[in-house]
Amino acid sequence: MDETRIAAIIFSRDLVQLAERLFMLRREYFWWKCLDPGWRACYTKGRPMYPSFYDINAMMRWLPVYREAIPTCAANTIQRAHDAWRAWRESTRTFNACKAPWHAKVALKGDAREPCPGCGYTGKPGMPRYAKKGQRSAIYFTYTQFSIKNHHAIFPRKSGIAPIHVPRLMDQAINDARAPVKQTRIIPAESDGFWVEFIHDVDVIEHAVNEQNVMGIDLGMNAIATIVNNLGDQPICFSGQCKGGAKEINQWYSKEMARLQADRNRSNPRIAELQRKHPNLSRDEWTEWHGLMASTRHMAIVTGKRNRRVGKLFHVISKHIIDLAVARNIGKIIIGHNPFQKQGLDRGKRFNQEFGQLPIFRLVSMIKYKAALNGITLVEIAEAFTSKASFLDDDPVPDRQVMVKKPDGHSDMTFSGKRVARGLYVSKHGIHIHADVNAACNIVRKACPDAFTRHDMPVKLYPRRINVNINDNSKKSPDIFGWNGAGVRHHPDRVIYPHQSGSN
Ligand SMILES: [Zn+2]
Repeated sequence: MDETRIAAIIFSRDLVQLAERLFMLRREYFWWKCLDPGWRACYTKGRPMYPSFYDINAMMRWLPVYREAIPTCAANTIQRAHDAWRAWRESTRTFNACKAPWHAKVALKGDAREPCPGCGYTGKPGMPRYAKKGQRSAIYFTYTQFSIKNHHAIFPRKSGIAPIHVPRLMDQAINDARAPVKQTRIIPAESDGFWVEFIHDVDVIEHAVNEQNVMGIDLGMNAIATIVNNLGDQPICFSGQCKGGAKEINQWYSKEMARLQADRNRSNPRIAELQRKHPNLSRDEWTEWHGLMASTRHMAIVTGKRNRRVGKLFHVISKHIIDLAVARNIGKIIIGHNPFQKQGLDRGKRFNQEFGQLPIFRLVSMIKYKAALNGITLVEIAEAFTSKASFLDDDPVPDRQVMVKKPDGHSDMTFSGKRVARGLYVSKHGIHIHADVNAACNIVRKACPDAFTRHDMPVKLYPRRINVNINDNSKKSPDIFGWNGAGVRHHPDRVIYPHQSGSN
């Protein structure tokens, strides 16, 4: 049995132990509540006391599965299971204690789009799950358990993991005492193979960032990211409509998945019979036959490949964005996205349903950590109404919370301009602006209302479009953007000062 399977079992066993204790104590607690108040004082120890990590570890040590595991890894797994339970208990307590007016409604719906304003949860916190048969779980090695020699990471013999070739770790002076690897994680991929992560501390790179210089990012599906700044530079739109771009990746994925689904349906006689009997079966009815419609191993491999391609694409885009921010001394990046997108993190059913789209939350997290690495502040705001309000007319950008309070669920908000076509927004006075630029400017304005008046720089209405593809291996972002100040390109006929378009 390999180490990841053992870890999964230990994780579950720990959960079983904790759950047993939890229910036992609850019974005890009930017994305590039945007592006369006078007697209760004598039994204050009857209140639920949860077992500590040491208790659990001591209990688990006698299990055969624990002896099969590497003790340090087993203890680490127990610690993580313990943390998962504690987090669940704490979030349940917060959730139950919440007194916000529509908390109950949110709780009932489960898949509510808006998090509860009181507690921030979109539904009842889920209990940690037990491992299914044959399931794998991550294992963590501390720095004393492995070494890096001759470009190979060597793990304990008991783990049975062959040395892994890690050529790039040598560049980061891994054997240098200043930047040692703190931890190695071996994480089973949801589709195929394993991820091996090497964790080490890095220092924030010092730049002469200026908090007054602000960049706004609007994320979307067609134009993956549109960025504007308040320094008068032309906006940039990162698009994926080229060879090796996002569109091609998605098309390949949809085609491949459709083919594999057809293959699976053809090879399974039960599905074939079902399809013959009910030729017009809807998607929802299919999901009732979920067992039949499970994804095959081949599909998992295709999905894994697609996820890695999208990851590469997002790394290229986020690197370009941060390079540009550093070149222009930008101290604050404001990113507009729907907080609900965070839910995509548990890449389960939802993730699979939306395979035609991009997991934007991954791009957000990449921009976040790369910004932090360069000492740039990152502000996340809800993108509600940023694409509807007119930037040139200085429309107010309301918060989503304002809208939710209306009983019919609709807002009677009216804005000065409107979107006339895909990618085109027209202001009150008929000035055309690229819709994503309008949205990005509104995102900046929502977080820093005085950002554009601060430098009194013109805002350009149309973005420069950069096609990004996964074959882009350039170490440094090209200077084609003209954002480094040297060769700022102007569109003289497209320059306008904000909020001066029609105020007279
Ligand atoms: Zn609540």
